Amino acid sequence: MITNKPVCVTGASGFIASHIIRELLEQGYLVRGTVRKEPKSYPFLLELPGAAERLELVQADLLTAGSYDQIIKGCEYVFHTASPYKVNVKNPQTDLVDPAVLGTETILESCMKSISIKRLIFTSSITAITDEPDSSKTFTEKDWNTMSSLDRQPYHYSKTLAEREAWDFIMRKKPTFDLVVINPVLVIGPSLTPSLNTSNQIIRDIMNGVYPCIMDLNWGLVDVRDVATAHILAMETEAAKGRYLCTAESMHMRDLVAFLKSSGFEKYSLPKLDLSGKAGTVLMKILSFSQPKDTGMYIRINVGRTLRLDNSKIRRDLALSFRSVRESLIETVHDMVKWGHLPRKPAN
Ligand code: NDP
Repeated sequence: MITNKPVCVTGASGFIASHIIRELLEQGYLVRGTVRKEPKSYPFLLELPGAAERLELVQADLLTAGSYDQIIKGCEYVFHTASPYKVNVKNPQTDLVDPAVLGTETILESCMKSISIKRLIFTSSITAITDEPDSSKTFTEKDWNTMSSLDRQPYHYSKTLAEREAWDFIMRKKPTFDLVVINPVLVIGPSLTPSLNTSNQIIRDIMNGVYPCIMDLNWGLVDVRDVATAHILAMETEAAKGRYLCTAESMHMRDLVAFLKSSGFEKYSLPKLDLSGKAGTVLMKILSFSQPKDTGMYIRINVGRTLRLDNSKIRRDLALSFRSVRESLIETVHDMVKWGHLPRKPAN
C-alpha cells in the first residue's frame, strides 16, 4: 500500500523511528520525519537508501503547541514515536511526563486539524500494560498499568498516561482518523544511530560488569527491525485495531548471560556469581537501596518474579513473525562494538 502522500514519523532520530524510516523508504514511501536539531545533524538518516529522493526532515518539539500542524498537514499516516526514554531523571514531571503526555496531545490536535489523516500509529510500551511481572498470570493487551506514579517507575507512568491520553482523546473527540497502538517490550538490535539507546544499554551493562551478579530477572525482548515492521503493518493492515503487545520472547538473565558466554563473548565482564535463588533475591532487594533511585526501585519490583506475555494478537492480526532473540543479541553486541559502545577486545 504505497500512498503518494507523505507518512509522518515523529522523533525520527530515535532508535526505533530510524528503523521505521529505513523500512518505509525501502518500501517506496515518501517520509516526513520530525527532529529537534538542524536536519543536517542527522547524516545517518539523510544517507539512508532512498532518503535523497523521499525523506524530508523538519524541526519540531513536543512541548511547543501547534509546532506539528504544518508538518502533519497533508499526511495520511502519522507514527508518533517521540517520547523521552530514560531512567534516573531529576524531575519526572518535566523530564518524562510532560513531553510524553503534552506531546501526545499536541500530535493528536495536529492530526485533528488535517483532514487527510487516516490513522495514527502510536508507540506505547509494555510499561503501559504493567509495571511489575506477576508470576501467576500472562499479560495481554487487556491489561493496564495501574501502579506507577511520579515516585514509582516514572518512565512507566509517563508511557501509561500518554497512551491513556491518546485513547481518551479518541473517545472524547471522535476524529475521522483511527488509532492503533504498538506496545513493545525491551527493544534490542543493531542501531542506525551512533547513540546508545537505553534498551541496548542494558545488554552493554550486562557485558561491562555493571551487573555484579546474575539475578532472578526476566526481560521480554524484541528486535528493533521487528518493531519497525510491526508499526508499518499496523499502518498497512486496514483491519488493525486497538493495542498490540510486541514481544518475541521472554528470557531469564541466567539464560541470557549463559547464551552470551557460549557465543564467544566470555572475555567480557559478564556476571559470574549466580544469585538468582530465593536467598539471592532477598539480598538483591536489600542491596538495591545502594543503587540510583529508579534503578533500585526497578530491581525491587522485578527481581524474583516471572514475566509471561502473550503475543498471539500481533502474530494473528498483523501476520508478524519474530526474529530469533538469540540472533538479535549477537547482532546487538557486534553493533555496539562497531559504534564503540563496547571494546573490541575486552580487558580481562
Ligand atoms: P530514543 O531515545 O532513541 O528516541 C526517542 C525519540 O524521542 C528521539 O527522537 C528524541 O529526540 C525524541 N524526543 C524526546 N523528547 C522529545 C521532545 N521533547 N520533543 C521532540 N522529540 C523528543 O528511544 P526509542 O527509539 O527506544 O523509543 C521510541 C519510542 O518507543 C518511545 O516512545 C519509547 O517510549 C518507546 N519504547 C521504547 C522501547 C525500547 O526498549 N527502546 C520499549 C517500548 C517502548 P532527540 O534525539 O532529539 O532526543
